[in-house]
Amino acid sequence: MIDRLDTFLHKGKRKNLVELLRKKGCTDENVLAAINKVPRHAFLDSAFLNFAYDDEAFPIGEGQTISHPSTVAFQTELLKLKKTDKVLEIGTGCGYQTAVLLEMGVKVYTIERQQKLYEKTRVLLPKLGYTTRFFYGDGYEGLPNHAPFDKIIVTAAAPYPPDALLKQMALGAIMIIPIGKGSEQIMNVIIKKSDTQFERSELGKYKFVPMVKSKSGY
Ligand code: SAH
Repeated sequence: MIDRLDTFLHKGKRKNLVELLRKKGCTDENVLAAINKVPRHAFLDSAFLNFAYDDEAFPIGEGQTISHPSTVAFQTELLKLKKTDKVLEIGTGCGYQTAVLLEMGVKVYTIERQQKLYEKTRVLLPKLGYTTRFFYGDGYEGLPNHAPFDKIIVTAAAPYPPDALLKQMALGAIMIIPIGKGSEQIMNVIIKKSDTQFERSELGKYKFVPMVKSKSGY
């Protein structure tokens, strides 16, 4: 069962989490303010209620996990969001990262390939007051009908940057994507310089669930 009540206890724990993220190096006050607003406990099963504001990843069903808050903060900070940005998120999962992006005031398009998670999160996000453009599909394909995007955030481990996503970046767009085939991936920042030129930098090791090809209910 999911507990959506946001109590003083939750708010207090969230404040402590924000202070922890600050200590861990997050300096973007807008990102910290967004994290301070999103009730992470409401995205998790009540079994994890007491730990929802720890800097930990937890199972969200169907073999998937919610990202560590520090990873959410880091990826969101790297996006260098502006209020006018149109953002594509690959791997909605439980919708926590989506909610953080929405609290940043940007327009979010998000794709999930796992049908059960898609159905669950499609109901949960509006209940928590978050409206997004939500698609059941394959992140490797992106959303050609809604491109170009100013920012792309991938929250599953990709073996390489998908061609369709590179194509769907606007000129000057930023994509944050963990790349690697093994148990660890390297966070990549890709900036589109022209239709054929991309600048890429690597920023530390992370552990994500794999980005799987094509849609599937399993
Ligand atoms: N941002 C999410 C993280 C979820 S884990 C959260 O905070 O909860 C990564 C998610 O990516 C999983 O839900 C998984 O089902 C999804 N995923 C994996 N491959 C995908 C693909 N090809 N297209 C879209 N989503 C994908």
